[in-house]
Amino acid sequence: MANLVAFLTGAGISTDSGIPDYRGPQGVWTRDPDAEKLVTIDYYMADPEIRKRSWQMRHDTPALRAEPNSAHFAIAALHDSGVAMRVITQNIDGLHQKAGVPARKVLELHGSARTVVCTQCGDKTTLREAITRLDAGELDPACRICGGILKTATVMFGENLNQRTLLEATTVASACTVMYAVGTSLQVHPAAGLVGVAAEHGAKIVIVNAEPTPYDETADEVVREPIGTALPRLLSQLSDSAGSIDANQ
Ligand code: ZN
Repeated sequence: MANLVAFLTGAGISTDSGIPDYRGPQGVWTRDPDAEKLVTIDYYMADPEIRKRSWQMRHDTPALRAEPNSAHFAIAALHDSGVAMRVITQNIDGLHQKAGVPARKVLELHGSARTVVCTQCGDKTTLREAITRLDAGELDPACRICGGILKTATVMFGENLNQRTLLEATTVASACTVMYAVGTSLQVHPAAGLVGVAAEHGAKIVIVNAEPTPYDETADEVVREPIGTALPRLLSQLSDSAGSIDANQ
C-alpha cells in the first residue's frame, strides 16, 4: 500500500486564525458554562431565546471571515506536492478547504459551521445567507421551505457524530502510514481514539500540541513548539523526502 499521511486536527490549529478555543483553559465554554446551552441540541430545539443567542454567537464569531494560517497552508502544500493524504478534523471552520485541500479529502467529524441545515426537511443553505437574514432583523431565521428550525450543520452536544464520516475516519486511521495529531488535546472521543487505531495498525504517530495529551506515551514524536512554525518545518521535510523517492523511481 502506498504511503498515506493522515492529519487529525483540533482547535489549536485554528487559534492563529483568530478562532477561539471553546474547551481550553481560556475557552468560551470554560469561562461561561451557560454558553454551552447554545450548542446543546435539546436546549436549542426547545427554546427560541437559546436559538437567538446561538445565532448571535455565530454572527459574532469570526469563523466566516477567518483566514487559514501557515499550518493550514503547510498541509495544503503537502497535498499539492502529490503526497497521498487525508485530513480528519474536529474543527467546524472549513479552513483546511479554504487553504486549498480538496473537500473530498477533509473529514469533518463535528460538521461545518459554514452550512446551515433545516432540522425538519433537511434543506441545506449557507451560514452567509443566515447571517444576511440576521442582519436584516430575523433573530431566529426559519426554513424558507417548510418553516422548520434551522441550525448550523455542526454536531451539537447531545447529537451523534455522522456515522459514515466516523467510519471513513477510522478507515483512514487504519490505513495511514503516519498520523499527525495537531492542536488537539486528544481528550474527546471518539476522535481521540483514532490515534490509538492508527498506532495499532503500525502508523508512526506525531503529536504537535502545546499541552501534554493522553497519547504522548504512544507517540513516536511529540512536538511542543508553536504549530504555526512546527508544522511547516515537519511537512517540508516530508515532501522533500517524498520528492526524492519519486525522483529515484
Ligand atoms: Zn425545512
